[in-house]
Amino acid sequence: MTPEQFHTAVLEWFDRHGRHDLPWQAEKTAYFTWISEIMLQQTQVKTVIPYFQRFVERFPTVHDLAEAEQDEVLHLWTGLGYYARARNLHKTARIVSEELDGQFPQTLEAMEALPGIGRSTAGAIISIATGQRAAILDGNVKRVLARFYAVEGWPGAPAVMKELWALAERNTPHQRVGDYTQAMMDLGATLCTRSKPSCLLCPLQAACEARALNLTDRLPSPRPKKVLPVKQTLMLLIQNEQGEVLLQQRPPSGIWGGLWSLPEVADLRDATATLGLTLDESATEVLEPLRHTFSHYHLDITPARVTPKDPTNSVMEGAPSLWYNVDQPANIGLAAPVKRLLERYAS
Ligand code: SF4
Repeated sequence: MTPEQFHTAVLEWFDRHGRHDLPWQAEKTAYFTWISEIMLQQTQVKTVIPYFQRFVERFPTVHDLAEAEQDEVLHLWTGLGYYARARNLHKTARIVSEELDGQFPQTLEAMEALPGIGRSTAGAIISIATGQRAAILDGNVKRVLARFYAVEGWPGAPAVMKELWALAERNTPHQRVGDYTQAMMDLGATLCTRSKPSCLLCPLQAACEARALNLTDRLPSPRPKKVLPVKQTLMLLIQNEQGEVLLQQRPPSGIWGGLWSLPEVADLRDATATLGLTLDESATEVLEPLRHTFSHYHLDITPARVTPKDPTNSVMEGAPSLWYNVDQPANIGLAAPVKRLLERYAS
């Protein structure tokens, strides 16, 4: 199949079967496209839709987002995960609003220079919002290309990635490039799915090598397996007489950077010394553990309900802290397992 045959088949399929009513397609602006593309990284469309709607309702322009407090941005991101995306989104909004007069860059290079915008995201924004020719290679497109051309090897490996980028560049049309970008994402998300692809409905089926060689369940090759290490932590549930829970803010960078979390200690016996609280040790209750998995390790969290001798006057040492009312939650970003623990034990 020539590149022209490839993109013609994909565009014809898109016109008949692609998704044309996603909320970020209502206005094909750089702002809407950028927000949606960042949210869609590692997250499925149906999950993203309500987050996107809440986000742009609260921040209809890049200036509104730039002026917001980081806590509110993280609050609206709570549950989407990968919080560095939200922090970078906020940083980029400030750059665009304050240094670029509210206008997103018009070239790939300048777009890629903004925090949190990689080559594929820059390509998506440039192609959809400006119509300029730019290729994308997100997870969906990697899967389609790896199968169509039977490219062996994990797509995250540099050599494989290079080969897939060359194929993506080659097939990108000069006309209707924004539609083609959307079409490839749709094709990967709706037909060329991770398991059981719908090859019989696919516009590329006649020339697809993975289909011809019966390799669709082997391609793309999975990431080489590694055993994730397990770390442990103790999270303290401390409630005052009103039932509010004591939270601490995480440092701005690192795991859950800038989010609010339950106070953590290595050992319950250290709690008094570490946190500057005097605990009533006879009232301590160790609760059912919870595992949270990051890309590079498992975190086994043991929650413990502890009672300070004088909860109303509790002052946490170190990080900023607040009393959180579960029934009237403040607009702050919560780490996902902390949200689960609060729902489980504090409501
Ligand atoms: S024919 Fe099947 S495996 Fe090949 S690109 Fe289409 S959906 Fe994917």
